[in-house]
Amino acid sequence: MPSYQIHDKINIALLVLILPALIYLNVDFVTVFIFALSFTFGTFFLSPDLDINSKIFKRWKLLRIFWCPYKEIFSHRQLSHHPIFGPVSLICYLFALVILVLYVVNADITRVDIRLLIIIAGMVCAIEAHIVTDLVSGIKKKKGKK
Ligand SMILES: [Zn+2]
Repeated sequence: MPSYQIHDKINIALLVLILPALIYLNVDFVTVFIFALSFTFGTFFLSPDLDINSKIFKRWKLLRIFWCPYKEIFSHRQLSHHPIFGPVSLICYLFALVILVLYVVNADITRVDIRLLIIIAGMVCAIEAHIVTDLVSGIKKKKGKK
């Protein structure tokens, strides 16, 4: 399994490749900026490795307590690392926490902004990059053992 440093480096390299492509495709600056921020957040704080006591888990500092149920529910490298269920579970879990906090502070949660989709896209891309990296490293290890 690649270390968190490898995951971080691969994701940032991927972002460095994606950003010029988005600019080349004439995506507006605000969208590119939001995508870059959410991708970076996804890389450093929303990895499938939240299913163990990982560096990503520790980056949440005191807030990591909110990820303890996720860690208990998902066993390592199982559903949290599934290409579809992994991002869905992480993002749904995060949004459930955010909605809970917004509800507690009595904020208006009835309006959904289109930028939310860009935020989700950025986080999903970062999570998928992690899953693909784990998958490729697993395939390489299997080949190396033969
Ligand atoms: Zn992983």
